Amino acid sequence: RHNHRTAHSGIRIRRDPLAKMSEEVKMYSMEEIAEHNKEGDMWVVINGEVFDISDFIEAHPGGQKVLAVEAGKDATKRYELFHGADVMRKYGPRLRIGFVKGSKAGKAAARAASPNAKQAEEKYHAKRDRAIAMTLNSMFGPARKPDTNVLVRTNPYGQLVPYGDPSWYQTLNSPYYKKTHVEWRQKCRQWMDTHITPFVKKWNEDYGPGEDGYKHIIKQMYKDGLMPACVGPPWPSMYVDKKGPEEFDSFHELIFVDEMSRCGSGGVTWGILGGITIGLPPIIHFGSEELKKRVVPGCLNGDKVICLCITEPHAGSDVAGLQTTAEKSECGKYYIVNGSKKWITNGIWSDYYTVAVRTGGKGPKGISLLLIEKDMEGVSTRHMKCMGVWASGTTYINFDNVKVPVSNLIGKENKGWKYVMYNFNHERWTIICQSLRFARVCYEEAFKYASRRETFGRSLIKHQAIRMKLAEMIRKIESTQSWLESLTYQLTTMNKKEQNMKLGGAIALLKTHATKTFEFCAREAAQIFGGAAYTRGGVGEKVERLYRDVRAYAIPGGSEEIMMDFGSREAVKKFERFSRM
Ligand SMILES: Cc1cc2nc3c(=O)[nH]c(=O)nc-3n(C[C@H](O)[C@H](O)[C@H](O)COP(=O)(O)OP(=O)(O)OC[C@H]3O[C@@H](n4cnc5c(N)ncnc54)[C@H](O)[C@@H]3O)c2cc1C
Repeated sequence: RHNHRTAHSGIRIRRDPLAKMSEEVKMYSMEEIAEHNKEGDMWVVINGEVFDISDFIEAHPGGQKVLAVEAGKDATKRYELFHGADVMRKYGPRLRIGFVKGSKAGKAAARAASPNAKQAEEKYHAKRDRAIAMTLNSMFGPARKPDTNVLVRTNPYGQLVPYGDPSWYQTLNSPYYKKTHVEWRQKCRQWMDTHITPFVKKWNEDYGPGEDGYKHIIKQMYKDGLMPACVGPPWPSMYVDKKGPEEFDSFHELIFVDEMSRCGSGGVTWGILGGITIGLPPIIHFGSEELKKRVVPGCLNGDKVICLCITEPHAGSDVAGLQTTAEKSECGKYYIVNGSKKWITNGIWSDYYTVAVRTGGKGPKGISLLLIEKDMEGVSTRHMKCMGVWASGTTYINFDNVKVPVSNLIGKENKGWKYVMYNFNHERWTIICQSLRFARVCYEEAFKYASRRETFGRSLIKHQAIRMKLAEMIRKIESTQSWLESLTYQLTTMNKKEQNMKLGGAIALLKTHATKTFEFCAREAAQIFGGAAYTRGGVGEKVERLYRDVRAYAIPGGSEEIMMDFGSREAVKKFERFSRM
């Protein structure tokens, strides 16, 4: 043995046994390693490297026992729990005696020891990169190439309240937007300012725009070529005779939702979009051709209203626990549906309900989606009075022995869970778009008010405490916008399968980030307005209303707690997947 004591620590450590590694790399099987588990002869494995700790054990700062129990074994997990990379850098090279056969580290060491180490390493990485690219291509198809028509800088647009609009409206450069987006933005803003914004207060106070709900507005929106944008790309040309904007993509949809949300009412945006954006896509993506033909055009052109019914009085976050049953009739031609759905947006005006029902056993594998129609016997609805989104038609729905033809099954029986999950990304993404603009509206209103209102002889905005509130709002809003645009870019360059596999966790986390930003901005804006945003109507009208709408964004589509849990679980899954690469 060639041991020596280091001058500074007094720890006895072995001379570098790999000093001649370039000549020979020692490989050991786990069986061989297992034999070295006695006092005076102890080896451990950490990340595929084999270390002789026979002497080092005496000096182990954490004590000898914890190390001794790992002798002869793979101690990676325990080691990583208590040590940083610096420890391995310090002791690793001197204690290492070789590698585990077939391990990643062993293969890398063998390459490094080969006479053509550099070429071997390059060859290995090129091969690995090719293999990863091939796997990604075979799973998701080739990535779409970046668009070269991006404008980068566009002319100033809007009222130019600093940060009152996304930064690309205010002459900051952006890698995302093209001429077609600029034109679409103008079309959307003009339309919303004419047909929606002036009526928002009344529609909210009246719990919606009357008998026909929003049908007449959606019809107009369809005629003017806007409405089909609500189901996202691709533009649903096979169901509508209106042409969409050129190269319609998720940024167009973002602009559409964002511009509509400038009206400053969750009730109205949901009154128009809350049912169709979540109730119709399952039919578009999974419905039979007959069902699509029968249902989709009417919903997009405003003849019919559709909503999504998942939540029940006893099953909200826990979707897999839903209890509404759909049993096949004896003749096999119908499902007989019994159960209740709660907090259903647009339900009160709906002609169609996309309903999650239990057709099989307990849990997610027994769920199907059925299209139920208003006129079917046994369907009853009741408007629910809630804290916010008054104009969105929040509804309690009862299904009492409703006879639903089997042709109204969406996709396959017992595959409903998959369809519901598939739908969630788009729903959450639209909630993010809306929450973000609502946060901006609160900020913009507060900024303008603070510039006008005077206290103690000067405008509110001259008081540092008020500017701090605005600054806090800005940083939250702009970080949300950047993340949203980055994720939206992913949507424009990935197919659905890749989106669903890669983006679910990030979209969930961003949903929480966006609704918390909205909540923060509503609170701080209301504080800046003082009594003026405590009053319904008047200068603080938008802020007062949005303050009440906040929970309607933080809870549905996956509440904040559920989103954080899901997002972090996805991160763990990703970590495990990446560590195998
Ligand atoms: C305005 C509005 C509109 C809606 N529109 C629709 C619609 O159109 N269609 C539809 O189907 N549903 C709709 N919903 C229902 C919505 O999806 C549910 O409210 C939501 O899923 C939460 O379910 P819950 O209210 O039953 O809360 P619960 O599931 O009972 O949860 C209560 C609280 O506990 C938390 N929680 C639950 N489980 C956990 C856990 N494991 N760990 C930590 N925290 C947890 C939740 O985050 C929540 O804060 C709407 C709700 C609202 C408020």
